[in-house]
Amino acid sequence: SVDIDRFTAWLRAFAGAIHEHAAELTELDSAIGDADHGSNMDRGMTAVAAALDADEFASAPALFKKVGMTLVSSVGGASGPLYGTFFLRFGGALGEGDADVTALGAALHAGIDGIVQRGKAEVGDKTMVDAWMPAVQAYDDARGDGLAAALRAAAEAAARGRDSATPLVAHKGRASYLGERSAGHQDPGATSTVLLIESAAATLA
Ligand code: ADP
Ligand code: MG
Ligand code: MG
Repeated sequence: SVDIDRFTAWLRAFAGAIHEHAAELTELDSAIGDADHGSNMDRGMTAVAAALDADEFASAPALFKKVGMTLVSSVGGASGPLYGTFFLRFGGALGEGDADVTALGAALHAGIDGIVQRGKAEVGDKTMVDAWMPAVQAYDDARGDGLAAALRAAAEAAARGRDSATPLVAHKGRASYLGERSAGHQDPGATSTVLLIESAAATLA
């Protein structure tokens, strides 16, 4: 099961992956957005890492509340409130104790439901939801095989979802302003979502 140290390791791994891929994420956003997704996420996750250094968190809900609020307040773009909502809802669905494969699945669902409520995107709109939805579906399907298998399946499905969105026309977010010209470009938010789920697979199990 997952304890607070593992959750912290996940967040640090994600902050590192974002930092490493910041230029690539901004490059993707320069084609169909405003060229700031890498810098937005790097600023947000650097602030999260600083908060992890500064504080001890007594429980997973308290930890993720801090993470979500830090992202909402430090990232101006669409991605800040969306990732912020994910972590707030994810943490809110966790209990005070360690999380098993079932509890983690329920928290993932709560997080994604928050993203959808907030952003109103569906699968096929060419957003981060195109990576998230198949990931939670794959997690559910592989849950019986244990946490490591479920997270690995989720990461692979997220990458396939990210790639399946590339040929699509965007219907939400800045990329939708481009209409047909958004087709053929990889979505930046779906790309950072794959990094988050890959970081989970590398640290939580
Ligand atoms: P902004 O578009 O405000 O500059 P970012 O560049 O940081 O914000 O993030 C852009 C990403 O946010 C997109 O690639 C997309 O994946 C995601 N996104 C934008 N709008 C929505 C939405 N309504 N629902 C889900 N995801 C969205
Ligand atoms: Mg942008
Ligand atoms: Mg922006």
